[in-house]
Amino acid sequence: MAEKDKQKELDSKYSMDTHLIYGKNVSNKWDYSHHVTAPISSSTTFRLDSVARGAEGFMQFAQTEAHGDEDPIFIYDRLGEPNKDMLEENLAYIEKGEMAVTFATGMGAISGVLGVLTKSGDEIITHTTLYGCTISLFNNWYPRLNIKVNPVDLTNLENINTVLTENTKVIYFETPANPNMDVINIIELRKIVDEINKNRTEENIITIVVDNTFATSFSQRPIELGADFSVHSLTKGMGGFGTDMGGAVIGKNKYRDALLLYRKDFGAVLNTKSAWAILTYGLPSLALRQKHQIQSSIKIAEFLENHPKVEFVRYPGLKSHPQHKIAKLQMIDFYGNFAPGSLIYFTLKGNTPEETKENGRKLMDYIAENAYTMTLAVSLGHTRTLIEHPASMTHSVVPADKLEERGIDAGGVRLAIGIENVDDILRDLEDSLKVI
Ligand SMILES: *Cc1c(COP(=O)(O)O)cnc(C)c1O
Repeated sequence: MAEKDKQKELDSKYSMDTHLIYGKNVSNKWDYSHHVTAPISSSTTFRLDSVARGAEGFMQFAQTEAHGDEDPIFIYDRLGEPNKDMLEENLAYIEKGEMAVTFATGMGAISGVLGVLTKSGDEIITHTTLYGCTISLFNNWYPRLNIKVNPVDLTNLENINTVLTENTKVIYFETPANPNMDVINIIELRKIVDEINKNRTEENIITIVVDNTFATSFSQRPIELGADFSVHSLTKGMGGFGTDMGGAVIGKNKYRDALLLYRKDFGAVLNTKSAWAILTYGLPSLALRQKHQIQSSIKIAEFLENHPKVEFVRYPGLKSHPQHKIAKLQMIDFYGNFAPGSLIYFTLKGNTPEETKENGRKLMDYIAENAYTMTLAVSLGHTRTLIEHPASMTHSVVPADKLEERGIDAGGVRLAIGIENVDDILRDLEDSLKVI
């Protein structure tokens, strides 16, 4: 029976109540080839034509080498579905990874990649300055897994030698680091790790994992620079609009199956609608947003650096940034231009640390109440410019007496530039700084 006749028969045979449940989605039109924009896949489970097809789907799952090129047989959302799979293809393509696996959040992606790379008894070397929840993951949960985490200052790569042991399996860091904008030399680190790995078996090699959230794929592609994995919070600049959470791990095919199994069993699966939003809105507008945000950030960083009430500014685009030269080699857009990102870190002047901190608080409270183009809120990479105080917000897991060793200033301010007109942001900043 022709497809049309079959549908006609179904139409007449069943009531509208039933059609409202089954709709027209059981149709050969449900493919992406004629959509300009991919439809949202909103099905938790997938119809299997036969037990044999179901069995084939389960056999295919997480078997990249044997079945990676076949048309997917979708079974259940937590294993994989069209929107996530399309987003993953795009993410891998953008950063020149062999594969990408998405997660529910950035923290889902970080715990996922470290979950497949480490086991009890292993050790991880990290940079001292990290996103607060990543520090919390390492301090609150890894001791019970018997995984030791050694934070050292990776802006000097020789420090690795002070904590390197035969159990070291991963070197993990953010570049630029959240919030103080430290830049770590991925290219140099690759050479060092290659030397160490020469004397190790395949199971014991050290892998380099870079959290690329601050830069986004537009400004930096860690795998091209020598990292084994790039991880993202897609919640930030990649998603770009502040509407959806998401995370991703990009890397080599040989880790894909373990990541898919980990995601399936630990369950931090990216919501299909969020995958669709990031695919439909986030990625297509990434370059446009980032270019604008970088141009604005350069102007704002220069303004702050020349302002008499500002103690110092950390922005990779400024010559005064301690790793400015490394940033110029690593933070490059798709066209070869220097792309120092949209995050700025600064502190205000004060006669004592307490006064500095108080000035920071005063500025942020004034902005929260009065500034039209800046919002007191955590997160970053948004259409709106967001300002926050790391010591009491995103990095509040770090006790006051440990802030310094974590590279965070008690009065430090993090500014995440949006896509407003830069002159408006500058005027609001200038007005706000008058309260100090
Ligand atoms: C926000 C952030 C994360 C965590 O991402 P979520 O999507 O909030 O889980 C990880 N790393 C960095 C650098 C971040 O800024």
